[in-house]
Amino acid sequence: MTTFHDLGLSKTIVDTLTTLGFEKATPIQEKAIPLVMEGSDLIGLAQTGTGKTAAFGLPMIEKLLADTRRPDPRNIRALILAPTRELVNQIADNLRDFVKKTPLRVVTVVGGASINKQSEMLSRGTDILVATPGRLLDLVNRKAVTLTQARYLVLDEADQMLDLGFIHDLRKISKMVPKNRQTLLFSATMPKLIGELAGEYLVNPKKVEVTPPGKAADKVEQYVHHVPGKDQKAQILRKTLTDNPDGLSLVFSRTKHGAEKLMKHLDHIGFKAASIHGNKSQGQRERALKAFRDGEIRVLVATDVAARGIDIPGVTHVYNYDLPEVPDAYVHRIGRTARNGRDGIAIAFCTPDEAHLLRDIEKLMGIQITVASGEAPAVITAGPGGKSRKPRSGSGHRASQGRAGQRPARKPFGEGAQADGGAPAAGKRAHGNRPPQKQGERQNRNHGAGNGQGRPNQSGKPRRSEGQRREQA
Ligand code: ADP
Ligand code: MG
Repeated sequence: MTTFHDLGLSKTIVDTLTTLGFEKATPIQEKAIPLVMEGSDLIGLAQTGTGKTAAFGLPMIEKLLADTRRPDPRNIRALILAPTRELVNQIADNLRDFVKKTPLRVVTVVGGASINKQSEMLSRGTDILVATPGRLLDLVNRKAVTLTQARYLVLDEADQMLDLGFIHDLRKISKMVPKNRQTLLFSATMPKLIGELAGEYLVNPKKVEVTPPGKAADKVEQYVHHVPGKDQKAQILRKTLTDNPDGLSLVFSRTKHGAEKLMKHLDHIGFKAASIHGNKSQGQRERALKAFRDGEIRVLVATDVAARGIDIPGVTHVYNYDLPEVPDAYVHRIGRTARNGRDGIAIAFCTPDEAHLLRDIEKLMGIQITVASGEAPAVITAGPGGKSRKPRSGSGHRASQGRAGQRPARKPFGEGAQADGGAPAAGKRAHGNRPPQKQGERQNRNHGAGNGQGRPNQSGKPRRSEGQRREQA
Protein backbone atom coordinates (compact mmCIF):
# COMPACT_ATOMS: atom_id res chain seq x y z
CA MET A 1 0.00 0.00 0.00
CA THR A 2 1.27 3.39 -0.96
CA THR A 3 0.30 6.30 1.25
CA PHE A 4 0.15 9.89 0.08
CA HIS A 5 3.03 10.64 2.39
CA ASP A 6 5.09 8.04 0.50
CA LEU A 7 4.30 9.87 -2.70
CA GLY A 8 5.97 12.99 -1.41
CA LEU A 9 2.94 15.12 -0.59
CA SER A 10 3.24 17.71 2.18
CA LYS A 11 1.85 17.25 5.65
CA THR A 12 -0.90 19.84 5.14
CA ILE A 13 -2.25 17.96 2.16
CA VAL A 14 -1.80 14.52 3.69
CA ASP A 15 -3.72 15.69 6.76
CA THR A 16 -6.51 17.05 4.63
CA LEU A 17 -6.66 13.77 2.74
CA THR A 18 -6.91 11.86 5.99
CA THR A 19 -9.96 13.89 7.00
CA LEU A 20 -11.46 13.09 3.59
CA GLY A 21 -10.88 9.37 4.12
CA PHE A 22 -8.14 9.12 1.51
CA GLU A 23 -5.62 6.79 3.13
CA LYS A 24 -3.93 5.02 0.30
CA ALA A 25 -3.39 6.07 -3.24
CA THR A 26 -5.28 4.44 -6.09
CA PRO A 27 -3.15 2.86 -8.87
CA ILE A 28 -3.41 5.88 -11.19
CA GLN A 29 -2.49 8.19 -8.31
CA GLU A 30 0.45 6.02 -7.35
CA LYS A 31 1.78 6.14 -10.89
CA ALA A 32 0.90 9.69 -11.88
CA ILE A 33 1.70 11.74 -8.79
CA PRO A 34 5.50 11.25 -8.82
CA LEU A 35 5.65 11.98 -12.56
CA VAL A 36 3.63 15.15 -12.24
CA MET A 37 5.75 16.21 -9.26
CA GLU A 38 8.93 15.84 -11.29
CA GLY A 39 7.46 18.01 -14.04
CA SER A 40 6.75 15.53 -16.82
CA ASP A 41 3.98 15.91 -19.32
CA LEU A 42 1.67 12.99 -18.88
CA ILE A 43 -0.89 10.88 -20.70
CA GLY A 44 -3.09 9.03 -18.23
CA LEU A 45 -5.35 6.29 -19.48
CA ALA A 46 -7.92 5.28 -16.94
CA GLN A 47 -11.63 4.65 -16.65
CA THR A 48 -13.91 6.84 -14.59
CA GLY A 49 -13.88 6.14 -10.90
CA THR A 50 -10.17 5.41 -10.74
CA GLY A 51 -9.29 8.64 -8.92
CA LYS A 52 -7.95 10.83 -11.69
CA THR A 53 -8.87 14.13 -10.06
CA ALA A 54 -6.50 13.56 -7.16
CA ALA A 55 -3.93 12.06 -9.53
CA PHE A 56 -3.46 15.39 -11.29
CA GLY A 57 -4.92 17.69 -8.64
CA LEU A 58 -2.73 16.83 -5.68
CA PRO A 59 0.70 17.21 -7.28
CA MET A 60 -0.47 20.35 -9.05
CA ILE A 61 -1.64 21.82 -5.77
CA GLU A 62 1.70 20.98 -4.16
CA LYS A 63 3.56 22.75 -6.92
CA LEU A 64 1.31 25.77 -6.78
CA LEU A 65 1.86 25.96 -3.03
CA ALA A 66 5.63 25.71 -3.43
CA ASP A 67 5.59 28.76 -5.67
CA THR A 68 4.28 31.55 -3.49
CA ARG A 69 3.37 33.97 -6.27
CA ARG A 70 -0.19 35.18 -6.16
CA PRO A 71 -2.15 35.25 -9.38
CA ASP A 72 -2.62 38.66 -10.99
CA PRO A 73 -6.19 39.86 -11.45
CA ARG A 74 -7.84 38.12 -14.41
CA ASN A 75 -4.96 35.66 -14.60
CA ILE A 76 -4.89 32.03 -13.71
CA ARG A 77 -2.08 29.72 -12.66
CA ALA A 78 -3.53 26.37 -13.66
CA LEU A 79 -6.24 25.38 -16.12
CA ILE A 80 -8.31 22.21 -16.08
CA LEU A 81 -10.62 21.55 -19.00
CA ALA A 82 -13.45 19.04 -18.80
CA PRO A 83 -16.28 18.24 -21.21
CA THR A 84 -19.43 18.97 -19.20
CA ARG A 85 -20.53 21.34 -16.50
CA GLU A 86 -21.27 18.44 -14.17
CA LEU A 87 -17.73 17.17 -14.50
CA VAL A 88 -16.33 20.66 -14.03
CA ASN A 89 -18.32 21.08 -10.84
CA GLN A 90 -17.34 17.67 -9.60
CA ILE A 91 -13.64 18.30 -10.21
CA ALA A 92 -13.85 21.72 -8.57
CA ASP A 93 -15.65 20.28 -5.53
CA ASN A 94 -12.87 17.73 -5.10
CA LEU A 95 -10.13 20.31 -5.54
CA ARG A 96 -11.78 22.67 -3.06
CA ASP A 97 -11.75 19.85 -0.55
CA PHE A 98 -8.05 19.33 -1.21
CA VAL A 99 -7.10 23.03 -0.84
CA LYS A 100 -9.24 23.65 2.22
CA LYS A 101 -6.23 24.34 4.43
CA THR A 102 -4.36 26.39 1.84
CA PRO A 103 -4.81 29.88 0.40
CA LEU A 104 -5.38 28.54 -3.12
CA ARG A 105 -8.48 29.69 -4.94
CA VAL A 106 -10.47 27.43 -7.27
CA VAL A 107 -12.89 29.00 -9.76
CA THR A 108 -15.25 27.32 -12.22
CA VAL A 109 -16.44 28.50 -15.57
CA VAL A 110 -19.24 26.60 -17.34
CA GLY A 111 -21.93 27.23 -19.90
CA GLY A 112 -25.48 27.78 -18.75
CA ALA A 113 -24.51 29.93 -15.79
CA SER A 114 -24.16 33.70 -15.56
CA ILE A 115 -21.15 34.84 -17.55
CA ASN A 116 -21.03 38.15 -15.68
CA LYS A 117 -20.77 36.42 -12.35
CA GLN A 118 -17.97 34.26 -13.71
CA SER A 119 -16.19 37.33 -15.04
CA GLU A 120 -16.52 38.90 -11.61
CA MET A 121 -15.04 35.79 -9.96
CA LEU A 122 -12.12 35.87 -12.37
CA SER A 123 -11.38 39.54 -11.71
CA ARG A 124 -9.77 38.65 -8.42
CA GLY A 125 -7.18 36.26 -9.83
CA THR A 126 -7.43 32.51 -9.81
CA ASP A 127 -5.02 29.77 -8.83
CA ILE A 128 -6.92 26.91 -10.42
CA LEU A 129 -9.57 27.41 -13.07
CA VAL A 130 -11.80 24.48 -13.99
CA ALA A 131 -13.72 25.10 -17.19
CA THR A 132 -15.64 23.76 -20.13
CA PRO A 133 -13.83 24.82 -23.33
CA GLY A 134 -16.63 26.82 -24.93
CA ARG A 135 -17.40 29.11 -22.05
CA LEU A 136 -13.72 29.61 -21.34
CA LEU A 137 -13.18 30.90 -24.88
CA ASP A 138 -16.13 33.24 -24.51
CA LEU A 139 -14.54 34.68 -21.40
CA VAL A 140 -11.14 34.94 -23.02
CA ASN A 141 -12.71 36.78 -25.95
CA ARG A 142 -14.31 39.21 -23.52
CA LYS A 143 -10.92 39.67 -21.89
CA ALA A 144 -12.39 38.49 -18.63
CA VAL A 145 -9.44 36.13 -18.24
CA THR A 146 -5.99 35.60 -19.74
CA LEU A 147 -4.15 32.32 -19.83
CA THR A 148 -0.69 33.72 -20.40
CA GLN A 149 0.57 33.02 -16.89
CA ALA A 150 -0.84 29.50 -16.63
CA ARG A 151 1.84 26.90 -15.95
CA TYR A 152 -0.38 23.83 -15.88
CA LEU A 153 -2.89 22.57 -18.40
CA VAL A 154 -5.02 19.51 -17.72
CA LEU A 155 -7.29 17.97 -20.34
CA ASP A 156 -9.62 15.70 -18.41
CA GLU A 157 -11.85 13.13 -20.12
CA ALA A 158 -10.16 14.16 -23.35
CA ASP A 159 -11.90 11.51 -25.45
CA GLN A 160 -15.26 12.81 -24.41
CA MET A 161 -14.22 16.36 -25.21
CA LEU A 162 -13.38 15.23 -28.72
CA ASP A 163 -16.65 13.33 -28.98
CA LEU A 164 -18.49 16.50 -28.11
CA GLY A 165 -16.73 18.40 -30.86
CA PHE A 166 -14.34 20.47 -28.78
CA ILE A 167 -11.25 19.77 -30.86
CA HIS A 168 -11.03 23.28 -32.32
CA ASP A 169 -11.63 24.89 -28.96
CA LEU A 170 -8.92 22.74 -27.42
CA ARG A 171 -6.47 23.73 -30.12
CA LYS A 172 -7.22 27.41 -29.59
CA ILE A 173 -6.90 27.17 -25.85
CA SER A 174 -3.68 25.12 -25.99
CA LYS A 175 -2.12 27.89 -28.05
CA MET A 176 -2.99 30.51 -25.45
CA VAL A 177 -1.28 28.71 -22.59
CA PRO A 178 2.49 29.38 -22.60
CA LYS A 179 4.78 26.71 -24.06
CA ASN A 180 6.74 26.24 -20.85
CA ARG A 181 3.68 24.81 -19.17
CA GLN A 182 3.20 21.26 -17.95
CA THR A 183 0.43 19.43 -19.79
CA LEU A 184 -1.52 16.45 -18.48
CA LEU A 185 -4.02 14.58 -20.59
CA PHE A 186 -6.46 12.05 -19.18
CA SER A 187 -8.72 9.84 -21.18
CA ALA A 188 -10.64 6.60 -20.78
CA THR A 189 -9.69 5.51 -24.27
CA MET A 190 -6.99 6.39 -26.74
CA PRO A 191 -8.50 7.00 -30.17
CA LYS A 192 -6.17 8.18 -32.91
CA LEU A 193 -7.23 11.79 -32.60
CA ILE A 194 -6.18 11.85 -28.95
CA GLY A 195 -2.77 10.56 -30.00
CA GLU A 196 -2.52 13.39 -32.51
CA LEU A 197 -3.60 15.97 -29.98
CA ALA A 198 -1.06 14.65 -27.51
CA GLY A 199 1.62 14.73 -30.20
CA GLU A 200 0.88 18.38 -30.87
CA TYR A 201 0.53 19.69 -27.35
CA LEU A 202 2.50 17.48 -25.00
CA VAL A 203 6.29 17.38 -24.80
CA ASN A 204 7.92 13.97 -24.26
CA PRO A 205 4.92 12.75 -22.33
CA LYS A 206 5.17 9.82 -19.96
CA LYS A 207 2.30 7.40 -20.28
CA VAL A 208 0.53 5.75 -17.39
CA GLU A 209 -2.27 3.27 -17.80
CA VAL A 210 -4.42 1.49 -15.30
CA THR A 211 -7.27 -0.98 -15.54
CA PRO A 212 -7.62 -2.20 -19.09
CA PRO A 213 -10.80 -1.08 -20.84
CA GLY A 214 -13.87 -2.89 -19.65
CA LYS A 215 -12.28 -3.77 -16.36
CA ALA A 216 -14.53 -1.40 -14.45
CA ALA A 217 -17.42 -3.58 -15.53
CA ASP A 218 -15.95 -6.73 -14.02
CA LYS A 219 -17.57 -6.31 -10.66
CA VAL A 220 -20.99 -5.68 -12.11
CA GLU A 221 -23.47 -8.52 -12.40
CA GLN A 222 -25.16 -8.13 -15.71
CA TYR A 223 -28.52 -9.36 -16.89
CA VAL A 224 -30.69 -8.81 -19.89
CA HIS A 225 -34.45 -9.17 -20.17
CA HIS A 226 -35.70 -9.96 -23.62
CA VAL A 227 -39.03 -8.23 -23.88
CA PRO A 228 -41.54 -8.05 -26.71
CA GLY A 229 -42.10 -4.31 -26.37
CA LYS A 230 -41.88 -1.13 -24.37
CA ASP A 231 -44.72 -1.90 -21.97
CA GLN A 232 -42.88 -4.87 -20.56
CA LYS A 233 -39.85 -2.71 -19.87
CA ALA A 234 -41.96 -0.48 -17.67
CA GLN A 235 -43.51 -3.47 -15.91
CA ILE A 236 -40.21 -5.15 -15.13
CA LEU A 237 -38.69 -1.89 -14.01
CA ARG A 238 -41.57 -1.28 -11.67
CA LYS A 239 -41.26 -4.78 -10.24
CA THR A 240 -37.54 -4.64 -9.61
CA LEU A 241 -37.75 -1.15 -8.15
CA THR A 242 -40.49 -2.35 -5.81
CA ASP A 243 -38.33 -5.29 -4.77
CA ASN A 244 -35.39 -3.00 -4.03
CA PRO A 245 -36.73 -0.26 -1.84
CA ASP A 246 -33.26 0.49 -0.51
CA GLY A 247 -31.56 0.53 -3.88
CA LEU A 248 -30.24 3.57 -5.68
CA SER A 249 -31.14 3.12 -9.33
CA LEU A 250 -29.84 4.87 -12.37
CA VAL A 251 -32.02 4.33 -15.42
CA PHE A 252 -30.69 5.13 -18.86
CA SER A 253 -32.95 6.32 -21.60
CA ARG A 254 -31.85 6.90 -25.17
CA THR A 255 -33.68 10.19 -25.63
CA LYS A 256 -34.44 13.29 -23.60
CA HIS A 257 -38.11 12.85 -24.32
CA GLY A 258 -38.03 9.21 -23.23
CA ALA A 259 -36.23 10.11 -20.03
CA GLU A 260 -38.78 12.76 -19.16
CA LYS A 261 -41.71 10.50 -19.94
CA LEU A 262 -40.32 7.64 -17.90
CA MET A 263 -39.54 9.90 -14.96
CA LYS A 264 -43.11 11.18 -14.98
CA HIS A 265 -44.47 7.65 -15.22
CA LEU A 266 -42.36 6.52 -12.27
CA ASP A 267 -43.42 9.52 -10.28
CA HIS A 268 -47.02 8.78 -11.15
CA ILE A 269 -46.82 5.19 -9.90
CA GLY A 270 -45.25 6.28 -6.65
CA PHE A 271 -41.47 6.18 -7.07
CA LYS A 272 -39.67 9.35 -6.23
CA ALA A 273 -37.72 9.98 -9.39
CA ALA A 274 -35.83 12.75 -11.13
CA SER A 275 -34.29 13.08 -14.52
CA ILE A 276 -31.17 14.61 -15.98
CA HIS A 277 -30.74 15.27 -19.68
CA GLY A 278 -29.83 17.98 -22.13
CA ASN A 279 -33.08 19.91 -21.76
CA LYS A 280 -32.61 20.49 -18.06
CA SER A 281 -31.06 23.67 -16.79
CA GLN A 282 -27.88 23.47 -14.83
CA GLY A 283 -29.76 24.24 -11.63
CA GLN A 284 -32.25 21.46 -12.28
CA ARG A 285 -29.49 18.96 -13.01
CA GLU A 286 -27.58 19.88 -9.93
CA ARG A 287 -30.64 19.64 -7.72
CA ALA A 288 -31.51 16.24 -9.17
CA LEU A 289 -27.98 14.95 -8.66
CA LYS A 290 -27.86 16.21 -5.12
CA ALA A 291 -31.22 14.68 -4.23
CA PHE A 292 -30.02 11.39 -5.69
CA ARG A 293 -26.64 11.51 -3.95
CA ASP A 294 -28.40 12.28 -0.68
CA GLY A 295 -30.75 9.34 -1.20
CA GLU A 296 -33.74 11.65 -1.17
CA ILE A 297 -34.84 10.25 -4.49
CA ARG A 298 -33.94 6.68 -5.31
CA VAL A 299 -34.40 6.62 -9.06
CA LEU A 300 -32.59 8.87 -11.48
CA VAL A 301 -33.48 8.69 -15.17
CA ALA A 302 -30.69 9.95 -17.38
CA THR A 303 -29.41 10.20 -20.90
CA ASP A 304 -25.80 9.26 -21.58
CA VAL A 305 -24.28 12.68 -21.78
CA ALA A 306 -25.92 13.86 -18.61
CA ALA A 307 -24.56 10.95 -16.62
CA ARG A 308 -21.21 10.01 -18.05
CA GLY A 309 -18.26 10.44 -15.77
CA ILE A 310 -20.34 11.69 -12.90
CA ASP A 311 -19.42 10.14 -9.61
CA ILE A 312 -22.47 8.97 -7.72
CA PRO A 313 -21.48 6.78 -4.82
CA GLY A 314 -23.74 3.94 -3.80
CA VAL A 315 -25.59 3.26 -7.05
CA THR A 316 -26.84 -0.32 -6.70
CA HIS A 317 -28.67 -0.78 -9.99
CA VAL A 318 -28.04 0.50 -13.46
CA TYR A 319 -30.85 -0.06 -15.93
CA ASN A 320 -30.30 0.03 -19.63
CA TYR A 321 -33.92 0.85 -20.20
CA ASP A 322 -33.02 1.45 -23.80
CA LEU A 323 -29.87 -0.12 -25.14
CA PRO A 324 -27.40 2.49 -26.32
CA GLU A 325 -26.70 3.02 -30.00
CA VAL A 326 -22.97 2.81 -29.44
CA PRO A 327 -21.76 -0.23 -27.53
CA ASP A 328 -19.13 1.53 -25.40
CA ALA A 329 -21.87 3.64 -23.89
CA TYR A 330 -23.06 0.42 -22.26
CA VAL A 331 -19.70 -0.01 -20.56
CA HIS A 332 -19.78 3.58 -19.34
CA ARG A 333 -23.33 3.19 -18.09
CA ILE A 334 -22.76 0.06 -16.08
CA GLY A 335 -19.53 1.58 -14.77
CA ARG A 336 -21.77 3.92 -12.72
CA THR A 337 -22.30 1.07 -10.27
CA ALA A 338 -19.94 -1.31 -8.49
CA ARG A 339 -17.54 1.52 -7.77
CA ASN A 340 -14.95 1.43 -5.06
CA GLY A 341 -15.22 -2.33 -4.77
CA ARG A 342 -18.94 -2.39 -4.05
CA ASP A 343 -21.40 -4.74 -5.66
CA GLY A 344 -23.54 -3.58 -8.49
CA ILE A 345 -26.21 -4.95 -10.76
CA ALA A 346 -26.83 -3.96 -14.33
CA ILE A 347 -30.15 -4.83 -15.92
CA ALA A 348 -30.77 -4.33 -19.60
CA PHE A 349 -33.98 -4.52 -21.55
CA CYS A 350 -33.87 -5.68 -25.10
CA THR A 351 -36.76 -5.56 -27.55
CA PRO A 352 -36.48 -7.42 -30.85
CA ASP A 353 -35.63 -4.07 -32.44
CA GLU A 354 -32.67 -3.73 -30.14
CA ALA A 355 -31.27 -7.24 -30.62
CA HIS A 356 -28.51 -6.00 -32.92
CA LEU A 357 -27.43 -3.47 -30.29
CA LEU A 358 -27.13 -6.23 -27.72
CA ARG A 359 -25.02 -8.25 -30.13
CA ASP A 360 -22.68 -5.30 -30.59
CA ILE A 361 -22.33 -4.84 -26.84
CA GLU A 362 -21.59 -8.51 -26.25
CA LYS A 363 -19.06 -8.48 -29.03
CA LEU A 364 -17.31 -5.43 -27.64
CA MET A 365 -17.19 -6.83 -24.12
CA GLY A 366 -16.39 -10.37 -25.20
CA ILE A 367 -19.13 -11.81 -23.02
CA GLN A 368 -22.62 -13.11 -23.21
CA ILE A 369 -24.88 -11.29 -20.84
CA THR A 370 -26.94 -13.56 -18.63
CA VAL A 371 -30.50 -13.80 -19.82
CA ALA A 372 -33.18 -13.06 -17.28
CA SER A 373 -36.71 -14.11 -17.93
CA GLY A 374 -38.47 -12.22 -20.68
CA GLU A 375 -41.97 -12.59 -19.31
CA ALA A 376 -41.68 -12.73 -15.57
CA PRO A 377 -39.40 -10.22 -13.97
CA ALA A 378 -36.32 -11.34 -12.16
CA VAL A 379 -36.35 -10.52 -8.51
CA ILE A 380 -33.45 -8.88 -6.85
CA THR A 381 -33.36 -7.85 -3.28
CA ALA A 382 -30.40 -5.64 -2.72
CA GLY A 383 -29.95 -4.27 0.73
CA PRO A 384 -28.14 -1.02 1.31
CA GLY A 385 -24.97 -1.21 -0.69
CA GLY A 386 -26.40 -4.03 -2.74
CA LYS A 387 -25.27 -6.68 -0.32
CA SER A 388 -27.96 -9.31 0.08
CA ARG A 389 -29.67 -10.57 -2.98
CA LYS A 390 -32.36 -13.11 -2.38
CA PRO A 391 -34.72 -14.61 -4.85
CA ARG A 392 -38.34 -14.50 -3.91
CA SER A 393 -40.42 -17.57 -4.37
CA GLY A 394 -42.53 -17.79 -7.46
CA SER A 395 -41.95 -15.95 -10.62
CA GLY A 396 -38.91 -14.90 -12.35
CA HIS A 397 -36.17 -17.39 -11.84
CA ARG A 398 -36.33 -19.23 -15.04
CA ALA A 399 -33.98 -17.95 -17.58
CA SER A 400 -35.64 -17.37 -20.86
CA GLN A 401 -35.01 -19.83 -23.59
CA GLY A 402 -35.26 -16.95 -25.99
CA ARG A 403 -31.65 -17.00 -27.01
CA ALA A 404 -30.86 -20.31 -25.51
CA GLY A 405 -29.82 -21.61 -28.86
CA GLN A 406 -26.61 -19.64 -28.54
CA ARG A 407 -26.08 -19.83 -24.84
CA PRO A 408 -26.83 -21.94 -21.84
CA ALA A 409 -29.96 -20.80 -20.08
CA ARG A 410 -29.00 -19.51 -16.69
CA LYS A 411 -31.05 -18.66 -13.74
CA PRO A 412 -30.89 -15.00 -13.08
CA PHE A 413 -30.29 -14.82 -9.39
CA GLY A 414 -29.39 -16.66 -6.25
CA GLU A 415 -30.99 -20.06 -6.21
CA GLY A 416 -28.67 -22.06 -8.38
CA ALA A 417 -25.68 -20.65 -6.58
CA GLN A 418 -26.79 -22.34 -3.42
CA ALA A 419 -27.58 -25.58 -5.16
CA ASP A 420 -24.07 -25.54 -6.49
CA GLY A 421 -22.69 -25.36 -3.02
CA GLY A 422 -21.84 -21.74 -3.27
CA ALA A 423 -20.30 -21.69 -6.67
CA PRO A 424 -21.79 -18.72 -8.40
CA ALA A 425 -23.08 -20.65 -11.37
CA ALA A 426 -26.41 -18.98 -11.53
CA GLY A 427 -26.39 -15.26 -11.47
CA LYS A 428 -22.80 -15.65 -12.43
CA ARG A 429 -20.99 -12.52 -13.09
CA ALA A 430 -20.99 -11.78 -16.69
CA HIS A 431 -17.59 -10.28 -16.63
CA GLY A 432 -15.63 -10.03 -19.68
CA ASN A 433 -12.29 -10.36 -21.22
CA ARG A 434 -12.98 -7.43 -23.33
CA PRO A 435 -10.69 -7.28 -26.28
CA PRO A 436 -8.54 -4.19 -26.43
CA GLN A 437 -10.24 -1.40 -28.21
CA LYS A 438 -9.12 -0.61 -31.65
CA GLN A 439 -7.54 2.72 -32.21
CA GLY A 440 -9.94 5.25 -33.53
CA GLU A 441 -12.85 3.04 -32.79
CA ARG A 442 -14.62 5.68 -30.82
CA GLN A 443 -14.10 8.55 -33.10
CA ASN A 444 -17.55 8.48 -34.51
CA ARG A 445 -19.24 8.01 -31.23
CA ASN A 446 -22.03 10.11 -30.15
CA HIS A 447 -22.87 11.01 -26.63
CA GLY A 448 -25.97 12.88 -27.36
CA ALA A 449 -26.41 16.38 -26.18
CA GLY A 450 -23.47 18.63 -25.66
CA ASN A 451 -22.80 20.45 -22.51
CA GLY A 452 -25.53 22.88 -23.13
CA GLN A 453 -23.25 25.79 -23.49
CA GLY A 454 -25.31 27.08 -26.34
CA ARG A 455 -22.44 28.76 -28.08
CA PRO A 456 -22.91 29.96 -31.57
CA ASN A 457 -21.04 27.93 -34.06
CA GLN A 458 -18.16 30.08 -35.07
CA SER A 459 -16.96 28.07 -38.01
CA GLY A 460 -20.40 27.98 -39.56
CA LYS A 461 -20.00 24.24 -40.05
CA PRO A 462 -21.98 21.82 -37.98
CA ARG A 463 -20.18 21.62 -34.69
CA ARG A 464 -20.95 17.98 -34.38
CA SER A 465 -21.69 15.73 -37.26
CA GLU A 466 -24.31 13.95 -35.22
CA GLY A 467 -26.32 17.08 -34.64
CA GLN A 468 -29.59 15.34 -35.04
CA ARG A 469 -29.07 12.56 -32.63
CA ARG A 470 -27.56 15.05 -30.26
CA GLU A 471 -30.88 16.83 -30.20
CA GLN A 472 -32.55 13.69 -28.94
CA ALA A 473 -30.44 13.17 -25.90
P1 ADP B 1 -12.21 9.71 -11.98
O1 ADP B 1 -11.89 11.14 -12.30
O2 ADP B 1 -11.14 8.76 -12.39
O3 ADP B 1 -13.56 9.31 -12.50
P2 ADP B 1 -12.49 10.67 -9.31
O4 ADP B 1 -11.26 11.43 -9.17
O5 ADP B 1 -13.75 11.43 -9.57
O6 ADP B 1 -12.33 9.55 -10.41
O7 ADP B 1 -12.65 9.76 -8.01
C1 ADP B 1 -13.72 8.85 -7.86
C2 ADP B 1 -14.16 8.76 -6.41
O8 ADP B 1 -13.14 8.13 -5.62
C3 ADP B 1 -14.38 10.13 -5.76
O9 ADP B 1 -15.51 10.03 -4.93
C4 ADP B 1 -13.13 10.36 -4.94
O10 ADP B 1 -13.40 11.19 -3.84
C5 ADP B 1 -12.76 8.95 -4.53
N1 ADP B 1 -11.30 8.76 -4.35
C6 ADP B 1 -10.34 9.09 -5.22
N2 ADP B 1 -9.12 8.75 -4.77
C7 ADP B 1 -9.31 8.17 -3.56
C8 ADP B 1 -8.43 7.60 -2.58
N3 ADP B 1 -7.13 7.56 -2.77
N4 ADP B 1 -8.98 7.11 -1.45
C9 ADP B 1 -10.32 7.16 -1.27
N5 ADP B 1 -11.21 7.67 -2.15
C10 ADP B 1 -10.72 8.17 -3.29
MG1 MG C 1 -12.76 12.56 -13.39
